[in-house]
Amino acid sequence: MILSPQLLLAAGAGALAAPAVAGMLAGAKGVEIEEKRAECMWASELPAMPPAIQLEAELKADLAIIGGGYTGLSCAYYAKKLRPDWSVVVLESHRLGSGASSRNSGAVYARYWGLNDDDMPQRGLDRLIRFIEEEGVECDFRPSPTIELYASKRAANRARSAMEEGAKWVPAEELSAGAHTGYYSDAVELPGYNTVHPAKLVVGHATAARRLGAELYENSPVVQVKKGKPAELITPNGTLRADNVLIATNAYTPRLGFLKTAMIPVHQYTYATRKLTDEEINGFGLKRWPLRFERSILPVTTFLTPNGHFCIRIVLGYASFNSCVWRDIDGAQKLAKRMFEQRYPWIADVELEQGWHGVTGHTLRVREVTGPVMGDNIHTAGAFNGLGIMPGHNTGYLSACRICGHPDEDLRHLCGRAAQVPIPGELYRSMIFKPFMKVMTPD
Ligand SMILES: Cc1cc2nc3c(=O)[nH]c(=O)nc-3n(C[C@H](O)[C@H](O)[C@H](O)COP(=O)(O)OP(=O)(O)OC[C@H]3O[C@@H](n4cnc5c(N)ncnc54)[C@H](O)[C@@H]3O)c2cc1C
Repeated sequence: MILSPQLLLAAGAGALAAPAVAGMLAGAKGVEIEEKRAECMWASELPAMPPAIQLEAELKADLAIIGGGYTGLSCAYYAKKLRPDWSVVVLESHRLGSGASSRNSGAVYARYWGLNDDDMPQRGLDRLIRFIEEEGVECDFRPSPTIELYASKRAANRARSAMEEGAKWVPAEELSAGAHTGYYSDAVELPGYNTVHPAKLVVGHATAARRLGAELYENSPVVQVKKGKPAELITPNGTLRADNVLIATNAYTPRLGFLKTAMIPVHQYTYATRKLTDEEINGFGLKRWPLRFERSILPVTTFLTPNGHFCIRIVLGYASFNSCVWRDIDGAQKLAKRMFEQRYPWIADVELEQGWHGVTGHTLRVREVTGPVMGDNIHTAGAFNGLGIMPGHNTGYLSACRICGHPDEDLRHLCGRAAQVPIPGELYRSMIFKPFMKVMTPD
């Protein structure tokens, strides 16, 4: 999911207008450790992973990783491959993968936002596929017919004139007959997309990292990072000292005190139908294009899961002080239902079974933030701007390379803290950014 450049530029324009006040107000609160996360459908489809233990001691490690999503677990896996002699420890605040990594829409593509003309995204996708094959990860990874949908003729024509190689134009009549929706003008069929079961991919990452000897701790939120060599990571029940640290907390990073003006968490809501029968799936045209991106300022994704649930994912907006908690879940659910029915009226007659909230990390440059953020031994990797399954895995690998001193040609592509455009603080966000997003989310 990418937020449109218009939105990010609108947000960025004011950055220069009120930096001083904004800086004073930015990121006033810390890690949200007391907040429980409701389970999402993907995780509920798997047998519960046996809980990992909590950090309850004073530990030392060569590499400590904060955050147990794709990025953190991938970094742990590759670091153990590159340096089997190193002790590698992952500290996760809740359950492993309970952040965006098990809450996403499962679309996998060879793209890093902002790096369209380079081969690096394809190498990243090849690396992820190799990992899945070599580790025997059963995660329903498969190519998926995909369309990009346009609500207006104007936007559709613009897209038609800039179609990438292999893309196919889908005119309105073919679209409404094939996809059972009259909501859109036209569409473009996109080549090269795959889908995956996100939670199964998390389990594959955790299993592979553990197999190589990485130690994984859950319910162990890091509430403070003290710089130094070793750096000190404080959790409520124990402390970890580590020579090297990777902060792989993605949208949650500003609450830990890092990247407060480089990235913002953006909230999403996904709502899934009950499991549809094969007859319904065929009848509603879902097999033909199981993955559908609506390109608008706040983009909408609809997708069919491997188990037969049809889902909508919408953008909710920004919550004050970089919070990763969305208070009005009932409102989010109602909005998602309304938007689902607008696009596919037949949804009104189908039970919507499960909804879940998630949060993604965004930057104004629409590039990830990877590299040192405190001294030269505390690194970060995150802000994948909503497209982070492959980039999370691959950036985990590249972070392991950088930290372990292993050369890789793609290290030069990583976009660091210094290259980001500052995002102003709360005053600006409340005056312009939040209202703008609200207006852009249709009622
Ligand atoms: C609704 C939704 C749909 C998406 N759809 C797609 C898609 O179709 N395709 C795609 O490529 N990407 C998609 N994404 C984005 C993708 O899921 C993320 O970019 C990716 O999962 C990022 O992985 P990560 O490991 O960097 O972050 P996360 O999975 O968010 O992991 C960060 C972890 O850090 C932990 N943490 C936070 N703070 C602390 C702390 N203080 N101490 C210890 N641990 C902490 C969190 O609990 C979390 O588990 C979507 C995201 C969402 C929310």
